[in-house]
Amino acid sequence: MVSFYPGPSQVYPKVKRYLNDAYSENILSINHRSKEFEALCKKAVVMLKKKLKIPSDYRVYFFSSATECWEVVAQSLVQQESLHAFNGAFGQRWYHYTSNIHGTEKVRAIAFDREESLQANRFNKAPEVLCLTHNETSNGTCLPEKFLSETRRQLPDTVIAVDATSSMGGIALNFADADVWFASVQKCFGLPAGLAVMICSPAALAHARTINNRNHYNSLLFAEEMMQRWQTTHTPNVLGIYLLMRVMADVKEIAAIHKTVTGRFKKWVNFFETKSEHLRLLIRNPEVRSRTVLTIEATPAVIEKIKVKAARNGFLIGNGYGELKDSTFRIANFPALRKSEIARLIDFLYNYI
Ligand SMILES: *Cc1c(COP(=O)(O)O)cnc(C)c1O
Repeated sequence: MVSFYPGPSQVYPKVKRYLNDAYSENILSINHRSKEFEALCKKAVVMLKKKLKIPSDYRVYFFSSATECWEVVAQSLVQQESLHAFNGAFGQRWYHYTSNIHGTEKVRAIAFDREESLQANRFNKAPEVLCLTHNETSNGTCLPEKFLSETRRQLPDTVIAVDATSSMGGIALNFADADVWFASVQKCFGLPAGLAVMICSPAALAHARTINNRNHYNSLLFAEEMMQRWQTTHTPNVLGIYLLMRVMADVKEIAAIHKTVTGRFKKWVNFFETKSEHLRLLIRNPEVRSRTVLTIEATPAVIEKIKVKAARNGFLIGNGYGELKDSTFRIANFPALRKSEIARLIDFLYNYI
């Protein structure tokens, strides 16, 4: 079975070998305060920074999930106000958890339409923290091309935090446009679940220091103190960090991966726009169409049939999310998928419809 689910998703084929290596190298039993772990952690961070082109003065931390990262941002970086702009379920959930922590007085929402090309001028007053979802996995949208750099220019003193869970590792991100970036690895990184990376600018850390929140084990300040020794605040997912290190050491630099992903995306778009009668891309506005998660619209009967038949042919297709459950399905366009697997799925869909 090949999984086209947009998370948890198909892992890189080499993960099989890396798992074996982890076992033989006794990675599964190493102590997280040992020199071996420190070396492993350091290599994972160095490789990640190298392959994703993360600015040298940005810091990298490991957490357990993107959901945990939402709370780290809320607890360590928000004091007066956080503003959440979202058009789908994941951005909304981040807003929801932040409101649970700080109350609705301090936490504001801008809910925008999924066809809208969000503009930086939507934010008239600079918030303390602005929370954005780079790629909204639930509906297959992404932020428009120039949006983050314009927002950065317009809000130079705001801490801009970006959930890039379903794009980091596949799409080239300009990290300098925001202060906090995070992603769990079971989507675009092609790795098993249970690990998230968070990337912070010097400004984000300086802001965390002024707030000085030290009430939580996962305070950004504790994470920073531990990471100075290549360690974590708690016993981390050592295997996950090892697998990330191996995958990052092996993959091409992000510009090349970005090119592959974008090329495959164009093929998918062409297929749905010209070859398919019953299937249509949900998102009409090309500026906000995600390149890593495609959401396809069809009648509920067609969707049901396709899913069942795809499973029989060895493809796992992603269900529609939330209110889009019956009217859409989703296809991951993540780099861990093989070209031949994508060609087979296109073939299947072509012959089916
Ligand atoms: C999947 C996803 C999450 C949640 O990830 P967890 O690892 O389950 O916490 C958050 N944000 C986005 C955009 C996602 O796609």
